[in-house]
Amino acid sequence: MNVPLLDLKPQYQALREEIRRVMDEVCDAQAFILGPRVEQFENEMAAYCGAAGACGVTSGSDALLVCLMLENIGAGAEVITSPYTFFATGGAIARTGATPVFADIDPASFNLDPAAVARCITPRTRAIMPVHLFGQTADLGPLLELAAKHKLVVIEDACQAIGAEYRGRRAGSVGDYGCFSFFPSKNLGGFGDGGLVTVRDPARLALLRQYRNHGMEPRYYHHHIGGNFRLDALQAAVLSVKLKYLDGWTAARQANAADYARRFAVSPAAAQVGLPAVLPWCTRHVYNQYCIRLPAAKRQTVWDGLRAAGVGCEVYYPVPLHLQPCFASLGGKPGDFPESERASVETLALPIYPETTGDQRQFVVDTIARQL
Ligand SMILES: *Cc1c(COP(=O)(O)O)cnc(C)c1O
Repeated sequence: MNVPLLDLKPQYQALREEIRRVMDEVCDAQAFILGPRVEQFENEMAAYCGAAGACGVTSGSDALLVCLMLENIGAGAEVITSPYTFFATGGAIARTGATPVFADIDPASFNLDPAAVARCITPRTRAIMPVHLFGQTADLGPLLELAAKHKLVVIEDACQAIGAEYRGRRAGSVGDYGCFSFFPSKNLGGFGDGGLVTVRDPARLALLRQYRNHGMEPRYYHHHIGGNFRLDALQAAVLSVKLKYLDGWTAARQANAADYARRFAVSPAAAQVGLPAVLPWCTRHVYNQYCIRLPAAKRQTVWDGLRAAGVGCEVYYPVPLHLQPCFASLGGKPGDFPESERASVETLALPIYPETTGDQRQFVVDTIARQL
């Protein structure tokens, strides 16, 4: 049995006609940059996320970057984030000239531990960038309290968490900004790269629209040094179609996660496999990834065994950011963030995409049990 980590083809087959129709409309109009398709998708996303507004951009990475640029965060500033995330979170901070300051994660949720964040705040801190890893929101309440007390901006990295909820509020609508990615492997994936920023304060929307287009308003009058961070009409058209199906796909991911839990519970592997926990503050987990924990000494064996059996799996992420070579100048060393380091050697992501079957999950569970 072959179980890929992700297979986008069945989803495309189901929506092929609908998607090709809107792509044809964009091609016939030959209007590709921004325009009504992008505006429509922005309005749909703002409504979906419960945000005051949304601004389509080129990628999730650029979404993070443009928020920092708009806040004038650069050299001399510090931004606190998690070392256990995709590189883009720390990379965006460093690209502005600011210093990424890492705070360790809470091991149950894999997300920023607010107590660790509190210990990192200095007079130079300008922002907190919580990451909603794997589809579960960080514990935003205490982070917002810290932000209010120290006048910090909160930029949610919601790239893996579209539609996730923190105490009933959608990811991206709780902090000052929410950053989303439409990289094809995200829960809402485009036909290429794309991203979006949601805002809580509508005053920031007009500025974001300027920043994504070289700070220009009107044409050839530049108020800020922004960049070309524009979402294109083809991506927006595809994403508008797919957004209508997102809740169905999310429900399937949640059902698949519950099904894994039932199958692991009665497996001989049960005692050695740590299943993902849904924390009380996360009222909607959207399972962009389903990451189990294994004994560190056995992860490679399990990984190899799954691969040999035709099961796709992946380690997110094998090296925490404070140990990445490009951040060596920050002085990070092993032992600095024990929970992030432990997660990086224990976790393994299993296939969770909507179209997987119960038989496939049983095969994954059985294959893992044979390796332990
Ligand atoms: C995917 C991802 C990003 C970057 O998104 P891109 O669209 O690939 O630039 C940033 N942060 C996290 C946590 C992500 O998962």
